[in-house]
Amino acid sequence: MKRILVTGGAGFIGSHLCKWLLDAGNEVICVDNLFTGSKKNIEGLFDNRNFEFIRHDVTRELMVEVDQIYNLACPASPIHYQYNPVKTMKTSVLGATNMLGLAKRVRAQILQASTSEVYGNPQVHPQPENYWGNVNPIGVRSCYDEGKRAAETLFFDYHRQSGVDIKVIRIFNTYGPNMNPDDGRVVSNFIVQALKGDDITVYGDGKQTRSFCYVDDLVEGMIRMMNSREGFIGPVNLGNPGEFTMLELAKKVLAFTGSKSQIVYKPLPKDDPVQRKPVIDLAKKELGWEPKISLDEGLKRTIKYFKGIIG
Ligand code: NAD
Ligand code: UDP
Repeated sequence: MKRILVTGGAGFIGSHLCKWLLDAGNEVICVDNLFTGSKKNIEGLFDNRNFEFIRHDVTRELMVEVDQIYNLACPASPIHYQYNPVKTMKTSVLGATNMLGLAKRVRAQILQASTSEVYGNPQVHPQPENYWGNVNPIGVRSCYDEGKRAAETLFFDYHRQSGVDIKVIRIFNTYGPNMNPDDGRVVSNFIVQALKGDDITVYGDGKQTRSFCYVDDLVEGMIRMMNSREGFIGPVNLGNPGEFTMLELAKKVLAFTGSKSQIVYKPLPKDDPVQRKPVIDLAKKELGWEPKISLDEGLKRTIKYFKGIIG
């Protein structure tokens, strides 16, 4: 049994991670300021005596005794991370600094939830870990992209300078139950629109691509990475290499919900990446990991969840 800190534990991915770690018999301390997360996501965990929730902002110092830290605290949807971009950058940079300081003091292992956004609008396709990316440093997405890049730098410098035991994963678009229905990401938007009979809002011409990973697959990969062999620190891509256009996604959602919603086209947000697909050879080799849940299956499970919460 380990004592494990999960920052951002009341969010979409964090809530699943907390549950998996508890189910495996660990003690879990969930830290979250509830900016985009919610107590509802973790309400089923409060009865477990191995679970503790602390309402706390990671831009401030935290002192707890733990063996492992999963650092997920950061708004992830473009609408939310652009709402207060200065705070987003602080959350990534000060949050990483505080959690790395904690890991150094208590000699905990620490895993950073980085992102495929470090590749920006990639000119190499698909994206391997050794691609350095094509990121606008002064655009509307920069608070998130550059914040996450700076956090990776801090992780590697704490490792080189102070020997902190780090693990870095780069998460590609992940979806599933517990996504906030209002957070504006494409999978939740399309499903909620379809279930309500509202127009499906495709941005741009809908030909931009993404690779979608179901949350259970991702969480399994995260835990494998945290417990991977000593000396393997990443960064490692975690994502599903299936690649789909947003129009293909919209059509799948319409088919699986049986909705009569119409597809409408809206302006493409600034700096929206044209294509994205992970190379996952490293995760396969080092972690013995690859996603098992197809987009069709994952969408059906996610639609079932949203039907339950929006009626
Ligand atoms: P989410 O918004 O649901 O979860 C983020 C959580 O962090 C929320 O509970 C939020 O309240 C909390 N938080 C935000 N700022 C905080 C702060 N200053 N102090 C404490 N808590 C704070 O998003 P998610 O999809 O679950 O993403 C989790 C992590 O994974 C994020 O770091 C995100 O960047 C990363 N990630 C997610 C995806 C994805 O597709 N879902 C892709 C790449 C990376
Ligand atoms: N998108 C869309 N309609 C929506 C929301 C998003 O067409 O209602 C597009 C968006 O422009 C992007 C893709 O879907 O090309 C994925 O967007 P999301 O915000 O989910 O993630 P990210 O852009 O960060 O990968």
